[in-house]
Amino acid sequence: MVKSKAELNRASENGKILGTFYGSHLPYSVDHKSLPELQESVPTLAELTDAALKRLDKNNNGFILQIEGGRVDHAAHGNCPSGLIYDQIAFDDAIKVVMDYTEGRDDTLVILTTDHGNANPGLGAYGSGYSQSPIMLDTIKDYKHSFEWVHRQLNVSWDDTSLDDGITVNRVRELIEYASNTRITEEEAIMAFQALNGDFRAPFRNRQGAAGVFSGIMANYNGIYFISTTHTSDYVELAAWGPGSDKIPTFVRNTDLFDLMVEMAAVQDYTTF
Ligand SMILES: [Zn+2]
Repeated sequence: MVKSKAELNRASENGKILGTFYGSHLPYSVDHKSLPELQESVPTLAELTDAALKRLDKNNNGFILQIEGGRVDHAAHGNCPSGLIYDQIAFDDAIKVVMDYTEGRDDTLVILTTDHGNANPGLGAYGSGYSQSPIMLDTIKDYKHSFEWVHRQLNVSWDDTSLDDGITVNRVRELIEYASNTRITEEEAIMAFQALNGDFRAPFRNRQGAAGVFSGIMANYNGIYFISTTHTSDYVELAAWGPGSDKIPTFVRNTDLFDLMVEMAAVQDYTTF
């Protein structure tokens, strides 16, 4: 068992290994990129992918590896564009490691998908000829932290309904500015404060909690709106390469994909497990 990036790097590449690198879910990549202590201790998804492939590759009987950019979902629930985009990029980096591994091989099937959509973030059209939209989206590259990090600094969790005594509107405004490099208005800061304190009331069911209010405010600057804080029913991406990928239809139910994977991995009698 390894608990840090250094321990992972020192660990034998033979045999089984369990890595737990944080007290709870791994930190968001946007926080990871801003905090050197996290970079020291927590490997990236690409590094974990590489560590897993090096070990599994030694098995002469082949292997099944599942890699999940798990917190993309969390960031979508939290309507946090920086959490989402940087974790999606971290997942892309992991895909690159997999592509490098499969390059020149003809014995490895890769399936790339997600089990559902979530919150459906989208960049709105702003300015003449939509000229403002890319400029607004660009602000995300200067974000230092996720909304989760802002919550932690304020000592509140997603479902808290009150702020500690002594936390002011100005403190909330400063933290948001530090995390996103964006100076919100006082009116917006009051809305964010009220949402964190559980006393924001708008006639929109998915804009009552801090996640919906935060993202609505930040959309004034980054242009990204979310439709909800929940999973959504849309079709999702499915890509595959390697042997057997031609058996995967263009449209497939996610529950059917499991049966296809079992078939292609030649796993038999799994229903009796
Ligand atoms: Zn979810």
